Amino acid sequence: MDEQTCPRCKTTTYRNKSLKLLVNVCGHKLCQTCVDVLFTRPSAACPQCNTALRRSDFRNQLFEDDAVEKEVDVRKKILKIYNKREDDFNSLDEFNNYLEDIEIIIFNIVNKISVEETKKKIELYKKENERLIKKNQSKLNQEEAMYLAYLQNEKEDYANKRKKIIQDELDSEKRKCKEKENLINDLIYANAPAEEVIARHVNVKRRKEEEESKKSFFFSEKKKNLKLVSQPIIEAPLFEYKAPIIEWFGPTPPDETDIIKNGYLKHIRSAQPAERAGGYTESIACRRALQEAFDSLFI
Ligand SMILES: [Zn+2]
Ligand SMILES: [Zn+2]
Repeated sequence: MDEQTCPRCKTTTYRNKSLKLLVNVCGHKLCQTCVDVLFTRPSAACPQCNTALRRSDFRNQLFEDDAVEKEVDVRKKILKIYNKREDDFNSLDEFNNYLEDIEIIIFNIVNKISVEETKKKIELYKKENERLIKKNQSKLNQEEAMYLAYLQNEKEDYANKRKKIIQDELDSEKRKCKEKENLINDLIYANAPAEEVIARHVNVKRRKEEEESKKSFFFSEKKKNLKLVSQPIIEAPLFEYKAPIIEWFGPTPPDETDIIKNGYLKHIRSAQPAERAGGYTESIACRRALQEAFDSLFI
């Protein structure tokens, strides 16, 4: 993030690394200290635009641009009211129109275009759709709760798996120590030659390893039984490429050889080596520009 300044006390993030900037509904920022000084009462006016603000509405700044902050706030508010879903409409077109309406409303409020009229429109919509708004809000809350529960579950699962891996590692360490101890004891106390004792231990170890690997036996057996079935060859005529017929609704643009031959390329910037490496040529750009210029000229 670039250097940020509190517009009131002019403190910058350069001078004060812990400067915390807050924003309110109007999108203007203030540092935490200025908020504390100005908002001794629950509400006060914004020092920049004089909008009446509530102290409880201040939140951490997310974007450097005030306009973006404001739009985020407005969008949040509007979407709480305009919360219809696609299945509340008979067709996708109706839903798309609805979404477009929402964008217009947000744009109008953010840019202060016919604000009163827009506010009236919102109020009317709110009254007319009161029940549906409440229903969709509770649906949304439920979905959010479900999603949070799912995340929590996943977190717990992950923690349990990690715990198990650590425990398995510890167990295996312990087992190895025990095996070593047993081997040393046997070498000291068993009345048998050292080679025999070692061979016995190696055998026991191998058996244990075999038992372990049996756990995954099922999967390995399945793999062995899997045979590759070759696909039958279908005899048919070879694929033949036919260039698509494109209707330009205008004069046919010249083809690549004509473009090169007739000097069209004089007006095109020559391609850089890096562009050529990607397969770009001047004639591609030229042909595209001509196509766009000619397209739909006859309509
Ligand atoms: Zn300040
Ligand atoms: Zn303001």
